[in-house]
Amino acid sequence: VTTFKGKKVALFGLGGSGLATAKALVAGGADVTAWDDNPDSVAKAVAKGLTTADLRGIDWAAQGAFVLSPGVPLTHPKPHWSVDLARAAGVEIIGDVELFVRERRAHAPDCPLIAITGTNGKSTTTALIAHILKSSGRDTQLGGNIGTAILTLDPPKDQRFYVVECSSYQIDLAPTLNPTAGILLNLTPDHLDRHGTMQHYAEVKERLVAGSKTAVIGVDDTFCALIADRVERAGVAVKRISKRNVVAEGLYAEGSRIIEAHAGASSALVDLDGIQTLRGSHNAQNAAAAIAACLAVGVSADEIRSGLKSFPGLKHRMQPVAKRGQVVFVNDSKATNADAAAPALSSYERIYWIAGGLPKEGGIVSLAPLFPRIVKAYLIGEAAPAFAATLGEAVPYEISGTLEKAVAHAAADAGEDGLASAVMLSPACASFDQFKNFEVRGDAFVGLVAGLKDVTMLIE
Ligand code: ADP
Repeated sequence: VTTFKGKKVALFGLGGSGLATAKALVAGGADVTAWDDNPDSVAKAVAKGLTTADLRGIDWAAQGAFVLSPGVPLTHPKPHWSVDLARAAGVEIIGDVELFVRERRAHAPDCPLIAITGTNGKSTTTALIAHILKSSGRDTQLGGNIGTAILTLDPPKDQRFYVVECSSYQIDLAPTLNPTAGILLNLTPDHLDRHGTMQHYAEVKERLVAGSKTAVIGVDDTFCALIADRVERAGVAVKRISKRNVVAEGLYAEGSRIIEAHAGASSALVDLDGIQTLRGSHNAQNAAAAIAACLAVGVSADEIRSGLKSFPGLKHRMQPVAKRGQVVFVNDSKATNADAAAPALSSYERIYWIAGGLPKEGGIVSLAPLFPRIVKAYLIGEAAPAFAATLGEAVPYEISGTLEKAVAHAAADAGEDGLASAVMLSPACASFDQFKNFEVRGDAFVGLVAGLKDVTMLIE
């Protein structure tokens, strides 16, 4: 990035995206001084040829900017010491998304930028948009909070599309963020550790849509509904998204059909029925938002329909991985607590449920309304006895202990009656008692399923 060519920049936080940011700044001719509280990270930066120094000793008055990595506290519970120093010296504090936005403004202001935020569904929506764009043949760059640091993407140029997932932290550090289409999916209490109050959390998220040319906002929760009204009054074109109510201008779900409402008329745009990777009303919200954003950047309805149909889904998130007759095997390993498991349990009717691991507070009590959908539960890990107690008489269960046994037993039971059903790993628990992380747990599930007789894999 060339925005700070010939200027001094201080940078704190040398994790993956911090390192990428430092390298991008140096490549663009900036004089970067980088630091981290972790000596190992500093050593890594030195090995990569970066200039490092404890930022407590630098000449702050000479700095053109202070670049902060996402994840370093800006405000709550209290600012990191480096933030205090930058503020005291009157140096602007920005993050990698802001650097990207400035680069785009300088070199290709018209290249479409779609930015996505919200409490839940960000990664799914981001991946879906990128998939629709890619499969329509467009030059597509996918990054941000979803994995690839934004400054490692190919540089902005005309006709190149950017799809960027933004965390609150990144929005907070991107004062001039100006997406072509900005999506705010939903807002529920989360991440309050850093943002303090729901009010502040909502204000940060609002900035992403307030700066957009077209704002796509899920209006099914009160915070977002208010934000949509406010942003619209400020003159932004707003497309409202609802998974349950009719909207006047935007997209809403009617069962599995997504309806587009525009200028007093409405028409069915696509039916999600049969698209395995977009099951459930939460995915109707994600898909409707993705469609609205794609329409806003000029993708045709036909291109959108065909992209939706071929969406492979995201790994470990309600991902259909295999089939055997009427039985589908679903990997939802990412569901590390009861709230996260709820959408998956709501999206299938007859479930052979593999759950357990390292229990979280509250257990699975909140899932009780969904218990009627569970044909039988196969409990693993440390949480098994507690989950068994909650299931009680309501749901048949066995304590399988290990994932191996759970998969073998669930697979043997499912389909016996010839009815459509799902064998689903949606653990509602952390994985650390038996696995390194939820990815390893999900991969183990897929491996076990692949080893079953007569299954057809749906993924590579
Ligand atoms: P994020 O990137 O915001 O964490 P993901 O797309 O990775 O979200 O989805 C994570 C989990 O959140 C999914 O497995 C599902 O359980 C739930 N989820 C996805 N989309 C939504 C939504 N629109 N509303 C509520 N929950 C959702």
